[in-house]
Amino acid sequence: MIRDHAESIAPTVAQLDHDHLWHPFTQQRGWVDEQPLVISAAAGTDLIDSEGNHYIDGVASLWCNVHGHRHPTIDAAIRDQLDRVAHSTMLGLTHGPAAELAARLIELAPPGLSRVFYSESGSSAVEIALKLAYQYWQQCGGQHRRRTGFICLGDGYHGDTLGAVSVGGIELFHSVYEPLLFQTHRVAAGDLVGLDRILDLHGEDIAAMIVEPLVQGAAGIKVHPPGWLATVRKRCDAHAILLIVDEVATGFGRTGTMFACEQERVSPDLMCLGKGLTGGYLPLAATLASERIYAGFLGEHTDFRTFFHGHTFTGNPLGCAAAIASLDVFKSEQTVLRLEAKIELVERRLADIAAMPEVAEVRSRGMMIGIDLGEHDQALRLGHRVSLEARRRGAIIRPLGDVIVLMPPLAISHSDLDRLLTITAASIEAAVGAASAPTLVAA
Ligand SMILES: *Cc1c(COP(=O)(O)O)cnc(C)c1O
Repeated sequence: MIRDHAESIAPTVAQLDHDHLWHPFTQQRGWVDEQPLVISAAAGTDLIDSEGNHYIDGVASLWCNVHGHRHPTIDAAIRDQLDRVAHSTMLGLTHGPAAELAARLIELAPPGLSRVFYSESGSSAVEIALKLAYQYWQQCGGQHRRRTGFICLGDGYHGDTLGAVSVGGIELFHSVYEPLLFQTHRVAAGDLVGLDRILDLHGEDIAAMIVEPLVQGAAGIKVHPPGWLATVRKRCDAHAILLIVDEVATGFGRTGTMFACEQERVSPDLMCLGKGLTGGYLPLAATLASERIYAGFLGEHTDFRTFFHGHTFTGNPLGCAAAIASLDVFKSEQTVLRLEAKIELVERRLADIAAMPEVAEVRSRGMMIGIDLGEHDQALRLGHRVSLEARRRGAIIRPLGDVIVLMPPLAISHSDLDRLLTITAASIEAAVGAASAPTLVAA
């Protein structure tokens, strides 16, 4: 019955999509030439299309799914909250799920973070961190008001809103907006000489430094040299600069620990969370702040030290309920502990993939994996071809240019993880083979 219904609407979905939708990060001219894959359902770590075919969700629905889809604990928590209230504002009111989740996040977060400000996307969590850092120094008064600048990493990615783009450094996504952005100081991850030069020249004018910890995801899974994050923390302390750590991609187990910061024992002043916060179920994000920053905003109503910022769906109860349930599942399923063996499996299989003639370099940290196919004619769209080959073999992946990204839900089984890596290797072989066939090169 359900199957019949799905089949009968599939062509309509494709038609409506082609007629009316505009997809993110997508060249629509190419999109409308392809038959779109219509996802109608999911089960565990599989996505299911309108014809009933199963695919491993190899990029965790854009890096956010943690415990799989339709997890009974998270589903039940959302249904239960739905029976109470779907949404109520945080402006002037509060509710149980937001308060409970805040306490749970503070308990988990690196020491020193004590306050939770909600939003609904990673980009917003970053905007909020930037505005908090800036306003904090303005309210410190005197000399501190000079601290208006930001240091960020080359090839950084913090989201697509304009503040987040200003501190981002990915040419392809960001360069066109240059005139709209505020100026920043950029330094390559690992370049301590470069960082010290910026600090010597501008240290007293910097409000905060923002980094993705350990791994820069959107840059193509760029893994930092060990110790870099701890070094950044020390340098920020030496120059009284706030450290913003963007854990939107790395948070909630992705790199093998609950937060990437833990691996270098770093406590940031501000921490951005998103993606995996709700187990990847609903749009909820959070900016965590230290008590010192929070205290900088306290005053009389007439002092106007208020943080004048808040979104309509800030702290949405359904999202908070999902996030609490996701944290429960982390505990009951020992998600982080059980990652160890999966990461070992990944590293073992990647050693073979790295040896493939089609592969230039393999980079990984925990369950963030990048397989770099090297320099190719961009018109070949090699990464895209690999993803189409993977689809035929039963896995959904989405590349970053010619870097094949694997970012499966943390709950993926050993056998599916192994299968995902086998499919990926076969897809790379098939796609590169077809692309270098004489007819295609000529075309
Ligand atoms: C995805 C991502 C963001 C943006 O999150 P959205 O929810 O897409 O706005 C920010 N920072 C990092 C590191 C990310 O990977």
